[in-house]
Amino acid sequence: MLPAAEHATQDVDHTNVESSDIDHLESSVAHHKPQSNTFWFDEAADCIVIAVQGTRFRLLRAKLCKNSKYFTRLFGSASDDADRCYDIDGVSSDDFKALINAMDDAILYVLEPPPSPVVASILRAAHKLECENILRFSKQLLCEIWSPDLHRLSTAPIPSALPTILLARDLDISQVLKRAFYELLRNSEPREGLSEEDQRRVNTAHGELQMHWAGFLWTTPNSHAFRCHTPSSVQHPPIETTDVDKRNETAKSMETEKEMVCTAQLERDHFQAWRDLLEEHGLFAVDDPLGALQSLAAINWEKMGYCAGCVEGRCEAFIRKRDELWNRLDGWFDL
Ligand SMILES: [Zn+2]
Repeated sequence: MLPAAEHATQDVDHTNVESSDIDHLESSVAHHKPQSNTFWFDEAADCIVIAVQGTRFRLLRAKLCKNSKYFTRLFGSASDDADRCYDIDGVSSDDFKALINAMDDAILYVLEPPPSPVVASILRAAHKLECENILRFSKQLLCEIWSPDLHRLSTAPIPSALPTILLARDLDISQVLKRAFYELLRNSEPREGLSEEDQRRVNTAHGELQMHWAGFLWTTPNSHAFRCHTPSSVQHPPIETTDVDKRNETAKSMETEKEMVCTAQLERDHFQAWRDLLEEHGLFAVDDPLGALQSLAAINWEKMGYCAGCVEGRCEAFIRKRDELWNRLDGWFDL
């Protein structure tokens, strides 16, 4: 190991070289390395100015051309247009920004998809500016957000159903319509701009759903799934003994067995019990029967004293009804 003094001497020797000499040395070494044919940008010559809705953007021409047939055509082979500003019509400034972000961040969107309005912005701009790969990618993102898969339908609504329907109609993305129609149906979003035909679809489905939901509510308490099929507890003879200790012991034993009796067997009026439960959970009159059925299946029936058979039977009935209604919606929406 060198003494500290020698270290200092060496440092002084190195820094004594004139900085211009180092620059020259590094420069000459760098110029001997070959240039990449693909990635060798000249910022000044390769930047281009775009104006969208009054906002100017200074962007790399190569990036725009690589992603967009529209820009490839627009710029042509001109290379002396550094001072020129290209006006782009038919795209909003927000949509354009979303598109440029997508060019840079698409890989992040794979890990964490942006919300539906951002995807819609990217889609609109990508469609207008003919960005084929980004268009395909954003369509896929939109279809995942508005998937018609019932397993993806939760009680939490997805906002922006109306703009999604309008976009889907413009760009012919029918895969998102079922979920978007259902979101519109169960929410109180304004429907301005929706075509008369689509308005009719949503109204028809809403009416049919309400009719089927009412039928389900009225018939359920008498259904097979709602009857307890567990054998009743043993009938106890009257307690006749006068021995106080023995009498208490027998009563305690009966009480324990009573606790094990299924709640369904203790209900005097099944319909009233059913109605009370629906009102307690706010599920009697709903715009979202599928969400209500999901909530009913999620109730802790076991904790309410229902036997295993009743819990299973009820949950199966709710899930089966939910599947049935979701499948029927294709016809009601006329998809
Ligand atoms: Zn039971």
